[in-house]
Amino acid sequence: MDLYEYQGRELFARHGLPVLDGDVATTPDEAAAIAERLGVRAVVKAQVKVGGRGKAGGVKLAENAEELRAHAERILGMDIKGHTVHKVMVTTTASIEEEYYFSYLLDRANRTFLCIASTAGGMEIEQVAEESPEKVVKMPIDALKGVDEATAREIVTKAGFPAEVADQVAEIAVKLWQAFLAEDATLVEVNPLAKVSGGKVLLLDAKVTLDENASFRHPEHAEYEDKSAVDPLEQAAKAKNLNYVKLDGQVGIIGNGAGLVMSTLDVVAYAGEEFGGVRPANFLDIGGGASAQVMANGLEIVLSDPAVKSVFVNVFGGITACDAVANGIVQALELLGERGEQVTKPLVVRLDGNNAEEGRRILDSANNPLIQRVDTMDGAAKRAAQLAATGK
Ligand code: GDP
Ligand code: MN
Repeated sequence: MDLYEYQGRELFARHGLPVLDGDVATTPDEAAAIAERLGVRAVVKAQVKVGGRGKAGGVKLAENAEELRAHAERILGMDIKGHTVHKVMVTTTASIEEEYYFSYLLDRANRTFLCIASTAGGMEIEQVAEESPEKVVKMPIDALKGVDEATAREIVTKAGFPAEVADQVAEIAVKLWQAFLAEDATLVEVNPLAKVSGGKVLLLDAKVTLDENASFRHPEHAEYEDKSAVDPLEQAAKAKNLNYVKLDGQVGIIGNGAGLVMSTLDVVAYAGEEFGGVRPANFLDIGGGASAQVMANGLEIVLSDPAVKSVFVNVFGGITACDAVANGIVQALELLGERGEQVTKPLVVRLDGNNAEEGRRILDSANNPLIQRVDTMDGAAKRAAQLAATGK
């Protein structure tokens, strides 16, 4: 989960890292009120989960509350690389003398954590790395050892931070690591980490990604969720504990096991070529124990997508045998009927694996005109694509 800058800034502040005082606003009036309260020159910054806001005109300095209101008015509603600005952050400001770069991240390729630091901050680090790689220091961080004072000193020396900021940067490096660890982040990026007039070093930008696999340890992270930006179907699916991802096609997909569902997406996309480019409408993995309840929840989500014209239920019976899944599908349609859902979209069902014969027999004897049984994956994908494209 990516955080907005204002959330990252709060997170940094909670861990004792030096950030500027400020708050977040959704209207120009609110923004001006914050500037008034801060009582000095203030910065207004677009809150969108994309970099390069500065260049796009989403970061503006104001001498007073009135000027800030005008900036906020212009920035709110602005489009930055396809992201609409709904919030702005207003902070006090200090004059920047030097801009550095500092980050910790999970380096998946090398199976380690990584610190990237540079005294050439402010601009995009990818660009610095390309033009003057010697200015970018990369140091693997031992997960068990972490970043102690000595490691922090090593980073500071290697990256060539000026002597007058070395102590501050080292302290920030340690605290930032502690924040990274405590919050189960996979990225904390500060660009710029700035030396401001008077010599103090401050974190002036915050890019934070939290590991959602660790969310069970962090009930407090729930507040970071961006309800408005999440697809409503994905939100409903999440509430029902379903692994659902909305896609842009017409064939609803339900399967058991992430691998099977992934390959189902491919097969449907391939089959759809023949029918004017019909594509999968979603990813939905209902997992191992596909009970009637889970199947009903899954079907309800998939069928409530208006773009869905047909549904492909692709199940390979393993520990959960096909007869149980078949009963689940039949009962799910009854359950949906009881919930007052008018199911009119055709379901193509492919059952294979453990007890497939019995599963197929159950489907047949249910005699539901909405259920079409096709026993091969390719055949079923083709049928589902055809139904989505032509309705018959
Ligand atoms: P990004 O472009 O999306 O990464 O947004 P940043 O938060 O990094 O802001 C872009 C640039 O605006 C920075 O590199 C700074 O030069 C400038 N900037 C950001 N925050 C402040 C601030 O509080 N005071 C001043 N004077 N400049 C700032
Ligand atoms: Mn930045």
